[in-house]
Amino acid sequence: MKSCRDTSVLVSRSLDESLSWTERLQVRVHLLMCSACRNFERQARFLHRACAGLRSGRAPRRQGPR
Ligand SMILES: [Zn+2]
Repeated sequence: MKSCRDTSVLVSRSLDESLSWTERLQVRVHLLMCSACRNFERQARFLHRACAGLRSGRAPRRQGPR
């Protein structure tokens, strides 16, 4: 089984690129058994979505003084 460190790296990578099926399987198996990494995955996905929202322009626009 992968270590928590390896798994967190794979989880982070999976947000930006697709993993090989063996990597996805390793992550899934680890997440089934490790609540710490499940929490990490949930938070990483949340942050990733939040950052994607900022990049797509949903962030408030900075307005100059008038
Ligand atoms: Zn873990």
